Amino acid sequence: MTQTTTNSPFRPALANVPTYKAGKQPAAAPGLTPYKLSSNELCLQPLPGVLESAAEPFNPANYPDPSANALISVLADYLQVPSDHLIVGAGGSEMLTAISHITLEAGTEVVYPSPSFELYAQAAALNGATQKPVGLTNEFKHDLTAMADAITDRTRLVLLCSPNNPTGPTISKSEFDDFMTRIPSDVLVVLDEAYWEFITDPAAVNGLAALNDYDNLVLVRTLSKAHGLAGLRIGYAVAKPHIISQVRKALIPFSVTAPSQKAAIASIDRVDEVLERAQTVAEVRDQFVAELRGQGWNIPDAQANFVWLPLGDLSTAFEDACVAQSLAVRNLNDGVRISIGEPEAMERTLQVAAEFRKQHYPTA
Ligand SMILES: *Cc1c(COP(=O)(O)O)cnc(C)c1O
Repeated sequence: MTQTTTNSPFRPALANVPTYKAGKQPAAAPGLTPYKLSSNELCLQPLPGVLESAAEPFNPANYPDPSANALISVLADYLQVPSDHLIVGAGGSEMLTAISHITLEAGTEVVYPSPSFELYAQAAALNGATQKPVGLTNEFKHDLTAMADAITDRTRLVLLCSPNNPTGPTISKSEFDDFMTRIPSDVLVVLDEAYWEFITDPAAVNGLAALNDYDNLVLVRTLSKAHGLAGLRIGYAVAKPHIISQVRKALIPFSVTAPSQKAAIASIDRVDEVLERAQTVAEVRDQFVAELRGQGWNIPDAQANFVWLPLGDLSTAFEDACVAQSLAVRNLNDGVRISIGEPEAMERTLQVAAEFRKQHYPTA
């Protein structure tokens, strides 16, 4: 009797799953303070009280509150939404993978911008879905017309990222509304707002307000960026209860630890200061962008805590020039993403950029 043998216990879909590549650590260089500008982490200390709250005594033999009730109620208060519109998990990443799990499988399609957050492709591939990455416009914005055109009757999920990681521009409210009118109500739309606190463009879509208009919309947010808590792994989603109750089925139970829940509560309690600090980072960003443009670089609108240099084939050469100066940046092949860091880090990056232009763009 013949048996079909596969030589592996693993699902065929795994062959197409890229491994997530995290931002590198800076290399040591003599006499230079190393700076990590490769993961969009906040360059400021946590707010007073946040670490203290995380360090409050707790019994590590016990599981944390699985529904994070205290955190949910603080978030509900702050966002002015009912508790059943909210769910928390181990970072926005857990939200994005859970949403992919509840919508995607072989035979379904997902539409997302490219380049954008690498996890979108990874989560889609893991679920065996057909991926429809849609290139950005020449201003490095979502091409929402092409994205709407890419939707078929097999599309279950559309991912939007505003501001877009790694390029920086937001989606405007009018662009978003025009897009949503073209999206069938049985397609789930994710608006990834990991960096919303850094936005200064008043025309940008406000996800929370948009939730009132669209029942198929889900916001993904995180405390990893503006709150400076990436190491504690806390993110959340906001949507109508019929979506939230499905997301819950795909989350890992107890994924947010008790210290993380405590730290998140303390940070949300001081959210006004979080927002003020995000605006301070935005000012440094705007100054950095202005200086780069002054050097002759074509920099897209930067609305988060990072800046995109569309270097094309020169991306690796630029990354190497940064490495030599003990600066870790993110080389994504089409370009290099630089997170906003300490003043000295920005100053040194500007020097690298100026020198790089002299060498590689001599006529410019
Ligand atoms: C950082 C980031 C997230 C969430 O990261 P977590 O640390 O898992 O919360 C989500 N989306 C984008 C676009 C990001 O850059």
